[in-house]
Amino acid sequence: MPELPEVETVVRTLEHKINNRIIKEVHVLWKNLIEYPDPDSFSALLRNQQFIGFSRRGKFLLFELTDFIMVAHLRMEGKFYVYSEHTEPVKHTHIVFILDNGELHYNDVRKFGRFDLYRKGEPLKCLASLGYEPFDDRLTGALLKKYCRRKKTPIKTQLLDQSMIAGIGNIYANEICFDVKLNPEHPACFISENKWDEIVQSTRRILAEAIKAGGTTIRSYTSSLGVTGLFQQNLHVHSRNDELCQCGTVIKKIFVNGRGTYFCPHCQNQNALMVAITGKIGSGKSTVTEMFEEAGIPVISCDSVNADLWHQAEVINEIEKITGKRTKKEVSTVIYSDPVTKKKLENYLHDLIWKKIESYYQVNKNEKMVAVEVPLLFETDWYRRFDCNILVTCNDRTVIERLKSTRNMSEENAITVLNNQLSDDAKRDMADIIIENDSTVSKLKESVNRKVNDIINSLPKD
Ligand SMILES: [Zn+2]
Repeated sequence: MPELPEVETVVRTLEHKINNRIIKEVHVLWKNLIEYPDPDSFSALLRNQQFIGFSRRGKFLLFELTDFIMVAHLRMEGKFYVYSEHTEPVKHTHIVFILDNGELHYNDVRKFGRFDLYRKGEPLKCLASLGYEPFDDRLTGALLKKYCRRKKTPIKTQLLDQSMIAGIGNIYANEICFDVKLNPEHPACFISENKWDEIVQSTRRILAEAIKAGGTTIRSYTSSLGVTGLFQQNLHVHSRNDELCQCGTVIKKIFVNGRGTYFCPHCQNQNALMVAITGKIGSGKSTVTEMFEEAGIPVISCDSVNADLWHQAEVINEIEKITGKRTKKEVSTVIYSDPVTKKKLENYLHDLIWKKIESYYQVNKNEKMVAVEVPLLFETDWYRRFDCNILVTCNDRTVIERLKSTRNMSEENAITVLNNQLSDDAKRDMADIIIENDSTVSKLKESVNRKVNDIINSLPKD
């Protein structure tokens, strides 16, 4: 099936060959190919129209004519042929455009192709549900992360969803998954924003290379514009089952939602999900983290990693270089009134904490998931690094009562502490999973266990 690069090549080749040609007559030999309007109007309206513009949207070809836009989709086997003189239609020729200077034939063995003709200014209904073009600047990791937040669809299948990104087909979906080292069955909802950024970059690079490869072949076209399979020489996994990956592992073929899917079990190994647990002070995020641990999930807490750092001599020396002080109390006085030093210190400590989390993750990467308690997840950009961000929430009244009873705070202090934190409303909007902690411990435990099982059950089975 032609994909975006192939369609782009067909569009550019047709532009090269039939730009400015005038349609004298159109014979529709297989009427079902014409989706809109009816086949007779299609032929009648096209008479004396001139081809003046050629473009692509997703895998659709757009032909601008004097008064109309003709939209074509090649589907499985559609091909255009340009002839400089009269040519008899063959068995699979279904539309013949007689031009002022030659003929354009549309052939289609499977007859799945579709044609629409719209008057200029009329909405192009057949394109209405398409998502962003891969090269559109508005397509970002943040956007895709949000779009897929509730989708347990395998990433490979999700990349084929034309309403998300327009133009990725089966071949390039396989190649993109390989390029970003994702198991094709990995659920789309559990991919970090940073990984989505990588997916966007990878999609653009792979498609651009394929378009470039197609571009160099345009000159070699004669009459045939069938280009299926043209760019397959650079494929790493697609159609290469039982061959060796560059890492030496045998490439596997499986079916994902009925589509042939090729991947390297080594390069695209399903590693542990990296899950962050956050929530405001007194929300119960530490209790939730403990419950993850009880459920058999490896957990690590930023606060305890940070506390450990303050016991290491070389860290204390570095802190002294940055702040001039050696104890937590003195340092906090210095940075309270000095935002530049505060930022420097934070950068230094956050880096060390992240390194520690990463090495903990490496040790546990064959587990189903690793949970990290991150108090300032959404206040920093760390939320972009995790495959799944869990927010533990609790109503303010309960939090205030908890702070008063467990931390001996006054009502006034508790309210001040609470108001100094980013509101839960803002965080709810950024979280992938929300755990409400307004009720009893046993209800909380039930809810945590359910979420843990939900996550594990959504992962690819070995
Ligand atoms: Zn490999």
